[in-house]
Amino acid sequence: MTMSAVDAAYRALIHHSPGCPDCRSLRDEDGRSTGQCETADALLTAYQRAQREARNEARDKETK
Ligand SMILES: [Zn+2]
Repeated sequence: MTMSAVDAAYRALIHHSPGCPDCRSLRDEDGRSTGQCETADALLTAYQRAQREARNEARDKETK
């Protein structure tokens, strides 16, 4: 997993919500998704996993 993969996952996440009726209708007043959109959930999970894997790989390189 590379940083560009993290970037791609992040872009997919932020570009989903504006065009998604579920995300738009289910937002809290602070503008954050209420987590009731399965697609946004999946995108967020993928983004967080990509971040974690990128961090792990960066750490592996430092110790080697
Ligand atoms: Zn959505």
